[in-house]
Amino acid sequence: MQLTKQALSQRTDHVYDVLVVGGGAAGLSAGIYLQRYLLSTLMIDKGKARSFWMQELHNYLGLPSDTPGREVLKQGKDHYLSLDGDYLHAYVEEVIDEGETFAVRVRVGRQNPTYEVFRSRYLIAASGIIDHLPQLSNMKNVFDYAGYNLHVCLICDGYEMRDQRAGVFGSNESSLDVAFSLGWFTPHITVFTNGAFEVGPELRDRLTQKGYTLNEQPIHQFLGENHQMSGVELADGSVVELDAGLISMGSKYHADYLNGIDLDYQGGNVVTDTMNRTSHPRIFAVGDLKVGMNQVIVAASDGALAATQIWRDIRRSEGTRRVPMVSNAA
Ligand SMILES: Cc1cc2nc3c(=O)[nH]c(=O)nc-3n(C[C@H](O)[C@H](O)[C@H](O)COP(=O)(O)OP(=O)(O)OC[C@H]3O[C@@H](n4cnc5c(N)ncnc54)[C@H](O)[C@@H]3O)c2cc1C
Repeated sequence: MQLTKQALSQRTDHVYDVLVVGGGAAGLSAGIYLQRYLLSTLMIDKGKARSFWMQELHNYLGLPSDTPGREVLKQGKDHYLSLDGDYLHAYVEEVIDEGETFAVRVRVGRQNPTYEVFRSRYLIAASGIIDHLPQLSNMKNVFDYAGYNLHVCLICDGYEMRDQRAGVFGSNESSLDVAFSLGWFTPHITVFTNGAFEVGPELRDRLTQKGYTLNEQPIHQFLGENHQMSGVELADGSVVELDAGLISMGSKYHADYLNGIDLDYQGGNVVTDTMNRTSHPRIFAVGDLKVGMNQVIVAASDGALAATQIWRDIRRSEGTRRVPMVSNAA
């Protein structure tokens, strides 16, 4: 059930089989599998998953490619709740390993928050990442286009940019490397530094060889209407017309609550085995937070794998059925 502030006290003395941090594609998929394995699950989600910003879900089997991410999240949450999983809209602050269980400290509510501690035997970290965006003085101007034709994911949206005039917006030299992959889809590329960093002679040379334009001026604003970006106005008032853009500025990894636990990381991503178990035997990581490919179809598959491995662990350790066999006798 969807837990309200009032109902929380009934749950704090319960030890869940699994606590899932994050209710995006990865967490919801895990939750659905866990509930169908008759395991007790608490999912805690602070909202605004990465797929919430996805206006159209591309590369996903079985759904029209204009399906908004919000719809996938709503359908997934309804499905999970229909299987009697517990769901709480809240923020996970800290996870403490108590040996047999985890104590998970949670902040509930923004104004006048309360703090609760829930316990579980296993933990699934499904808390994802969020993309850094160009920092302009008017951020609303960025939000108007980001996720529409100002893309953040080449795998998702390279196809949308085929043969278009595309801008690449980076945060340092190495982030501009994505321009060469985008070159698979279109040759009409302008690379923007927003005046924020230097480009060395080697990269300058590679960009020139490919025929890409390098623009090193500060950006004043994105131009366009109805969420369709049509170009960039630079600080000196000049305009570069574009059909699309690709932001490549890295991401924030939502993993602060795991700081007290010694896990293996690669960059900001959690390292897992093929069933998504981390270096801690009772913590799994799924979706964008783990090393892998940031796609909804992969996140959904990750959730299925982690849930199945946890079921195997618990089934083997308990050795008995969770529910009595229903008798077929008349
Ligand atoms: C604009 C855009 C377009 C995209 N287009 C596509 C596409 O076309 N096709 C495709 O396959 N993929 C696309 N992606 C990528 C896709 O959205 C991600 O790969 C996918 O959403 C990852 O799912 P996830 O469950 O790992 O993370 P998320 O969906 O980000 O879910 C993580 C959840 O955890 C919550 N959380 C984080 N920290 C905490 C905490 N401490 N306590 C509680 N909750 C927490 C977050 O708020 C969030 O709700 C796109 C992404 C963006 C941004």
